[in-house]
Amino acid sequence: MSNERLRYHGPAGMARYHIPGPSENDKRFVPSVTTVTEPPREIKVVSEADVIVVGGGPGGFAAAVCAARMGARTVLLERYGHLGGMCTGGLVNIIPNLSDIGGTQYIGGICQEFIDRLDKQDAAFHPFKLDWGSTDESVLKYYKDCSFHHFFIRKNKEGKDALLYSAIIDPEIGKNEINRMVMEAGVKLYLHSWVTNVIMDGNQVKGIIFESKSGRQAVLGKVIIDCTGDGDLLTWTGAQYEDDIGADLRIKHLCFGYWIGGVEFRAFDKFVSSRPDDYIALKNELHDKGLYISFFRGMLKNQEHTAWLHPHFIAECQTDVEEMTRMDVAAREKAVQTWELLRDKAPGFEKSYIHLTCAQLGTTGGRRLVGEYSLREDDLRRTEPFEDTIAIFPNNDRGKESLEHPVVYVPYRTLIPRDIEGFMVACRAFSSDDEANSCFNLIPHCMCFGQAAGTAAAMAVQEGISVRNVPFGKLREQLLKQNVILP
Ligand SMILES: Cc1cc2nc3c(=O)[nH]c(=O)nc-3n(C[C@H](O)[C@H](O)[C@H](O)COP(=O)(O)OP(=O)(O)OC[C@H]3O[C@@H](n4cnc5c(N)ncnc54)[C@H](O)[C@@H]3O)c2cc1C
Repeated sequence: MSNERLRYHGPAGMARYHIPGPSENDKRFVPSVTTVTEPPREIKVVSEADVIVVGGGPGGFAAAVCAARMGARTVLLERYGHLGGMCTGGLVNIIPNLSDIGGTQYIGGICQEFIDRLDKQDAAFHPFKLDWGSTDESVLKYYKDCSFHHFFIRKNKEGKDALLYSAIIDPEIGKNEINRMVMEAGVKLYLHSWVTNVIMDGNQVKGIIFESKSGRQAVLGKVIIDCTGDGDLLTWTGAQYEDDIGADLRIKHLCFGYWIGGVEFRAFDKFVSSRPDDYIALKNELHDKGLYISFFRGMLKNQEHTAWLHPHFIAECQTDVEEMTRMDVAAREKAVQTWELLRDKAPGFEKSYIHLTCAQLGTTGGRRLVGEYSLREDDLRRTEPFEDTIAIFPNNDRGKESLEHPVVYVPYRTLIPRDIEGFMVACRAFSSDDEANSCFNLIPHCMCFGQAAGTAAAMAVQEGISVRNVPFGKLREQLLKQNVILP
């Protein structure tokens, strides 16, 4: 492993905050027994499907839409009242790295379809196709001036700044558009439905159990796809997984996204340029009080008065409910205090207000499948595609290495568990080490996993075969028909 290994793949200089530990009050609630036995009970089966998709984030909605479009009876279950996962409810509405640094697009398929549909509603922002890869300073100036520099500009081989194809989407319109895609495809959707277990017959997954206001119910299916992001089904199916994460990696964080509206950035910019000492004093005050010091500026149409904040918190375990609770409480308090200080001291923020806070806490990493193939750091330097490549990812976030290896290939086998049948993973819990996962678990990547998994699951059901035996040539043919870009 080279010493040049790039460990943090997020925007440079991003501050990271600490989550408070358990409080004195928590000690009052230490239980006197460690476990109780849950009695067995009959539960109602509410649907029977070919394909069940758990979780409606970027991976899940893509999987469900693609499986249903292939003719599979598909059920999609989502714990919240909207789809889109982190991309909408997490306020992480940036879909980056769709092209390499030279401007060649590598991520198409359902991800491009989603962006196209939002474009028609003025609900997406991205550079014109003509400008992808451009080194023209007059084109770059706009992106250099905006606070999303990190998502749009990289140095190319000649050492010149070049423009990437990345898109920013409106999360609220996005939620509705995903609903439309899911409904048009004929997916049977359960919102407000938290999947809590699987139904197994030996090593074969036969269905899922979920909880909702209607009680505890079951759905039976032939192929179950885990798109929970956190790999919840890995624990219940008994599939092998790993969850180690390097301390300095992007995926070590929990995050609390929120938006401040009503900001007059012109007044703020004037303050920064005309009173630099006061600006530094304000930043120092935010820093000393442990508050959030940086924000992005809304780049969507009519959102030029919105500041977007994505504070990261270093987490021990992103699926520990007690840590998630402490983090949510602390992050929300800081969010309000940050806004109050800006409102009181930063010109331009006088009439601002907290506009939105994330419905979904930002989890960046967690359980990862140990599948038939695991994408490891070495694979990021591979020059030849895998025989079963389902996606090509522009490799833009790894410094000099990105110039030598502009793309990364992902094999189908990263979605297939080694030892469990009727089960796939098509979300950021795909089979990978922490380094590969940190670079390639983003929204567009998860949509690619979902598209491949949903398509393959439907094919497996049609052919009556295991998902691990889907003939890759036929899967490739189908994916190409869906405008997926493949080697
Ligand atoms: C702070 C932060 C910044 C990020 N920045 C970017 C960025 O700029 N660009 C980018 O592309 N990516 C970014 N990411 C990463 C990206 O958002 C995620 O990796 C991506 O959304 C993962 O998609 P997914 O489908 O795997 O999971 P998710 O988006 O988490 O979706 C999982 C879905 O499953 C549902 N679910 C979970 N468990 C259950 C259950 N048991 N039952 C029912 N439903 C369930 C969830 O509610 C959710 O809708 C960022 C993430 C964070 C937290």
